[in-house]
Amino acid sequence: MSTNGKKVDFDVIGIGAGFAGLALIHYLRGAGLSVRIFDRASDVGGTWAWNRYPGAATDSESYYYCLTFSKELLQEWSWTKRYPGRQETQDYMRFVADKCDMWPHIQLNTEIVDAEYQVDDGIWQVTTAAGDRFTCKYFVSGMGMISEPLIPNIKGMDQFKGPLFHSSRWPKEGLDYAGKRIGIIGAGATTVQMVPELAKTAASVTVFQRTPNYILPAMQKPMTPEWEKEIKDNYDAIVAKCRNHVFGMAFDSPVGRNAVDTPEEERQRIFEENWTGSFRWVFETFDDLLANPEANRMASEFIIAKMKARVKDPKLADLLAPSFDDYPLFAKRPPLDHGYLEAFNEDHVHLVDIKDAEPLVEITETGVRTTRNHYEFDIIVLATGFNAYTGALEAFPIRGATGQTLSEKWRTSSDCIMGVCVSDFPNMFVVTGPQAPFANLPTSIEQNVIWITHCIEKMEREGYDIFKPRREAEEAWTAHTAEIHAQTLMAEGHKVNSWMMGANRQDKPPRVLIYFGGANNYYDTLDKSAAEGFPELEFEKLGA
Ligand code: NAP
Repeated sequence: MSTNGKKVDFDVIGIGAGFAGLALIHYLRGAGLSVRIFDRASDVGGTWAWNRYPGAATDSESYYYCLTFSKELLQEWSWTKRYPGRQETQDYMRFVADKCDMWPHIQLNTEIVDAEYQVDDGIWQVTTAAGDRFTCKYFVSGMGMISEPLIPNIKGMDQFKGPLFHSSRWPKEGLDYAGKRIGIIGAGATTVQMVPELAKTAASVTVFQRTPNYILPAMQKPMTPEWEKEIKDNYDAIVAKCRNHVFGMAFDSPVGRNAVDTPEEERQRIFEENWTGSFRWVFETFDDLLANPEANRMASEFIIAKMKARVKDPKLADLLAPSFDDYPLFAKRPPLDHGYLEAFNEDHVHLVDIKDAEPLVEITETGVRTTRNHYEFDIIVLATGFNAYTGALEAFPIRGATGQTLSEKWRTSSDCIMGVCVSDFPNMFVVTGPQAPFANLPTSIEQNVIWITHCIEKMEREGYDIFKPRREAEEAWTAHTAEIHAQTLMAEGHKVNSWMMGANRQDKPPRVLIYFGGANNYYDTLDKSAAEGFPELEFEKLGA
């Protein structure tokens, strides 16, 4: 293809060979475009290529944590469990890439270190770590919303003699931790998954916890032939359910009742009956849990009681459980648990309260020092979370039409149009970028990629060279997202360092990062935008 008489290497260059990369290849190739997806990992998988820590598994249920563009794929792949482990999810992505002959479009082991919009030619140029340059008309980030590790600044981190790494950088070649003493800094969803698995063979596991979480049970179970048949007989309905759900999940909600209007006995019965694992509990019990503080308190207290009942030592139970007075359910993203709480009933699994009892002081050559003790370890894992939503886009220079980088643009805010386009960054798309919903990611990814494909099809059909995201559309979406955010209990996240507001970062103030107006409504908005010819964008022909 030629733009302004200049040849480009590809119509579309995307970064990230996870669900987004695979979806981009499918939809854009179908529209007749040449596509190259780069990834620094050595395999497809996106987040599942990196998060190799023991116990890593999806928190969405398997049968809707997948791409839906091919009925054949949905029917042919068989999940083994309710929540597949990371390897199984990665195997699924390899299956998609094999089956759909996607490998020729994927370039692995290739890190992009620079991306720059060339104003005169209306094209993008990306540079790899090896110094190779490639050009394209459309540049797409599929780098993921929770992929850029947050490395804490703890004194002495370079002093420790043993392996010390971020949880999402668990050594690829494996790590023999049997019989070893493991220290984990952080107590979020990653740690909740990791501890029960590590505790099986480690000599000891010690978790340094600042803020306790509302922990929901996963209740893992195998996929039976009967369950699989029921799913496969009903896939159209399951896909439609995800598309029409506030969190993009195949849940049966809204349920048409509120906790605050339900008599206590009945409410407890509904809470109890639905205590069957997954985030379903939050959505399939009552409709007001995430918006009404009183309803949220009722749900929070139910969860806290359930958590405490599973820990034998009452003092430990108090430390592991959060308090509604500190923050409501979902102000931080609740982890799903596969035996985390029970693990603390074992003698070799320990919790250190670094919030009140003994704050962290430093990492030493042999372990971790708090204000009260020194703990000796063979391995230290920093399960300290991620620079969510914007982190991957800020990690290397992505320079738009004004010469400003995304990182510079987003110093104090994270303005974006529907999570997919950014003003002053022409011909660039982000898959599930800032101010997109937090939802079942494959559902959101596919909806985003469909919108992107329609947009590019319009550009090509009508002979345009450039689209420019309108600043007024960005301001309007940002204001709308902020208004909705303020009405939810997620807005309390800044009190407890929630990554959902970027409040876990030291380098930036908390921001509105997520659209909480319902993923279903968001997908409707994308569809409406495409149907109306993308009013958020200005289309231009070079030299016209
Ligand atoms: P996280 O939820 O952000 O938890 C990070 C933990 O590290 C928190 O306990 C935090 O304490 C602590 N921490 C951070 N900096 C620290 C410091 N300097 N000193 C001491 N403690 C520190 O991170 P995550 O557990 O990796 O999970 C992040 C998100 O990734 C999840 O919410 C989820 O969306 C996603 N995830 C998904 C899955 C899945 O779906 N299967 C699995 C794992 C993760 P404070 O809370 O006090 O700040």
